[in-house]
Amino acid sequence: MNEVIHELNNSKIAFKTDLGGKELSAFRAGGKALVTAYPESVKALERLKDISEAFSLPLYPFGLGSNTLILDGGYDGIMVSMVGMRRISASGNELTLSAGIPVTVALDIAAEKGLGGLEELGGIPATIGGMTKTNAGAFGREMSDLVAEATVFDMKTGEVYKIKGSETDFGYRTSGSTFHDKIILSVKLDLMPAAKIKEKCAYYTALRRETQPSRPSLGSTFKRTPDGIGAGYYIDKAGLKGTVIGGAEISSKHAGFIVNRGHATAADYTKLMALSSGAVKRKFGIDLEPEIEIIGKEINRDDGART
Ligand SMILES: Cc1cc2nc3c(=O)[nH]c(=O)nc-3n(C[C@H](O)[C@H](O)[C@H](O)COP(=O)(O)OP(=O)(O)OC[C@H]3O[C@@H](n4cnc5c(N)ncnc54)[C@H](O)[C@@H]3O)c2cc1C
Repeated sequence: MNEVIHELNNSKIAFKTDLGGKELSAFRAGGKALVTAYPESVKALERLKDISEAFSLPLYPFGLGSNTLILDGGYDGIMVSMVGMRRISASGNELTLSAGIPVTVALDIAAEKGLGGLEELGGIPATIGGMTKTNAGAFGREMSDLVAEATVFDMKTGEVYKIKGSETDFGYRTSGSTFHDKIILSVKLDLMPAAKIKEKCAYYTALRRETQPSRPSLGSTFKRTPDGIGAGYYIDKAGLKGTVIGGAEISSKHAGFIVNRGHATAADYTKLMALSSGAVKRKFGIDLEPEIEIIGKEINRDDGART
């Protein structure tokens, strides 16, 4: 570990070694990451790639961690925070935004330029990069409707290149294999002239507040079922709304969310996931597919040591 720190210092890349799920995941629980790095340039990413290969440490790009659970045993790799990259440019109806820009900021810029399209996504606590990777969507709008092009850093080859919207493999809450082993650097959005952007955004954000819990969560735990119904409906019908394990709860406001009541562990979250999917399978014969991403390793309960 000392050698990794030495290399990061030599490369002048900002990093921290004391962060974990409490700071990095919107669930505000989970184990520590070995290193969290804050690159601000492609050159820094190239160095991180070299360090990752030299020490066999995987790289995990992330934004606001609003879809990411880090298991309690921690993540033995380099979390690559993209929030330091914040370039913006506009041309006609197109807005090009660095991956680390939160959608709230993107919306302010779009509103200034009179460009609409992102309003429905406004209340999502996420970055443009994370939203592109997960093809985030709400109220009938998905990122895939807007992405004209993404510029990526290839974690295998170190190359930087562009992927056009038409070359992507977007599906429901997925970008398929488009961004495997890639770090999204920036995204060009194809927007449209519009008025009252802030008002529309405020409307959708208020709708969210009415129906969604305010405690820390990762949004919808599972994807909608193939019949198009939210998993929360079935979890509720299985009688699990409000169920508590440890410090986590299947939200009594919206059964599609698992919330942190203040002292949850990642294991509390995954136990509630297992309980939900088991009950929905038994009662309705439906397999729930996780929407959230789980990384890291569990704690070995026999001896308390890391597995
Ligand atoms: C309260 C709440 C409400 C939510 N509502 C919605 C909703 O309405 N619709 C919806 O779709 N989702 C929703 N979510 C889930 C979440 O916000 C989205 O999945 C979002 O796209 C994640 O963005 P992020 O920047 O936080 O990504 P992270 O959680 O940090 O990362 C998510 C994934 O993207 C990858 N990633 C992140 N940045 C990059 C990058 N630059 N390059 C390559 N890969 C990258 C990560 O490796 C990971 O695979 C909600 C979450 C919360 C907490």
